[in-house]
Amino acid sequence: MTSERPVVVVIEDEPQIRRFLRTSLDAHEFTVHEAETGKQGLVECATRRPEVVVLDLGLPDMDGVELIRKLREWSEVPVVVLSARSQEADKIAALEAGADDYVVKPFGMGELVARLRVALRHSAATGEDAQSVFRAGELEVDLLNRRVRRAGADVHLTPTEYRLLVVLVKHPGKVLTQRFLLKEVWGPGYAESAHYLRIYMANLRKKLEADPAQPRHLLTETGVGYRFDAGA
Ligand code: CA
Repeated sequence: MTSERPVVVVIEDEPQIRRFLRTSLDAHEFTVHEAETGKQGLVECATRRPEVVVLDLGLPDMDGVELIRKLREWSEVPVVVLSARSQEADKIAALEAGADDYVVKPFGMGELVARLRVALRHSAATGEDAQSVFRAGELEVDLLNRRVRRAGADVHLTPTEYRLLVVLVKHPGKVLTQRFLLKEVWGPGYAESAHYLRIYMANLRKKLEADPAQPRHLLTETGVGYRFDAGA
């Protein structure tokens, strides 16, 4: 749902550009929250629940493309990238990472606002809220901080185990096919490698289930795939 004053998070390290964006977007009836680092930007996105994000690719603490990848683990909020870089490769990397649109500096405010309006319409059509922490019984998955806990204790997962768990918890209650999980976690070339899934699912159960032989959350749908049961 798009409100009358859409909430935008502006992630930009240059104070002058940030100030310009704040003043201009405010005049165009946006509610503006600012961040000057990538880390701060992710926190603003998790707490402000913006309807659109304006992101500078060149940040002091992390690459903007990396920020998009992290954000996309738990949020579908539209991201419009700002960058002084004009190389094709950077645009593609940002878009492949999940950016929605791209504006090259120096840009006109009219152009940026037009892109933001398009992004807002698109997100109103899909209408998905960002959720950064999932809880299921004793299990807690904090997507913002990439932290998994069971009964309050940190659990160490390998990157592949973590990716698999994230895909599962993002679709609670839904049966996910082996092919879908393999493509999401390992990539399109692995759609037939069902044994990977069995091995990694067994690892996840050992680490996350009180009784891995009688799982409560990581359930097998025989012959089909798996399902994450968030429980009561
Ligand atoms: Ca910059």
